[in-house]
Amino acid sequence: MTEQPAALQISDEIAISIENMNKWYGAFHVLRDIDLTVYRGERIVIAGPSGSGKSTLIRCINALEEHQQGKIIVDGTLLSSDLKNIDRIRSEVGMVFQHFNLFPHLTILENCTLAPIWVRKIPKREAEDIAMHFLEKVKIPEQADKYPGQLSGGQQQRVAIARSLCMRPRIMLFDEPTSALDPEMIKEVLDTMVALAEEGMTMLCVTHEMGFARQVANRVIFMDQGQIVEQNEPEEFFNNPQSDRTKLFLSQIL
Ligand code: ADP
Ligand code: MG
Repeated sequence: MTEQPAALQISDEIAISIENMNKWYGAFHVLRDIDLTVYRGERIVIAGPSGSGKSTLIRCINALEEHQQGKIIVDGTLLSSDLKNIDRIRSEVGMVFQHFNLFPHLTILENCTLAPIWVRKIPKREAEDIAMHFLEKVKIPEQADKYPGQLSGGQQQRVAIARSLCMRPRIMLFDEPTSALDPEMIKEVLDTMVALAEEGMTMLCVTHEMGFARQVANRVIFMDQGQIVEQNEPEEFFNNPQSDRTKLFLSQIL
């Protein structure tokens, strides 16, 4: 594995620390010896072929998947089987998936206020104010009273981002947030993510949008067969890939 370049250590504050982490699905060794330190404010793009373990890795960070070996520390909290720690980590970490997973029977506003009201115990009016604030940020406040099925895919994904932000996460995980979208909707979602990055959000994004990686990421991580094969600043990563597997991948997608 390539060492993390010193120049990338943009802050001494560590958001996520993963040490020697291994995970199996039954007998299948899906993540191998993962070491990764994410500093606060970093914008990391995770790239790699389908099946390389990208989703599994980011799902381990908020305990949507269990890991069997090694340590994951998020915002100073050790991820263990202790449910209190899992709750604490999940409340710090927002996640946006390829499929938006909005509740179809709730309005856009209700989708955004549900968790703040029931999990964070925020009064309804205040939760609605916060929700409107973030719906404005993602540029769809006028959709607040509609249902998800009445919105385009790009709009639904922006709602999903706003909904995550309503929980005031310190870290955002994205798993191919634009992969299910029609081409003309990809940009509006990426623009939302760019704005979030500009505000200093710590972000880990699994994406095939290499333009986004070049524009926003301070580090690109390349995974293959459950391992971090290579990582570098985007410029170096794209112009001067080190491993043959990275070169092959880039030749296929660029
Ligand atoms: P990626 O996101 O890079 O496409 P994934 O993390 O989804 O890769 O999957 C990595 C590997 O683990 C794949 O071979 C996939 O088939 C396998 N896998 C994913 N989820 C499960 C699961 N729940 N049970 C068994 N195998 C799984
Ligand atoms: Mg995936």
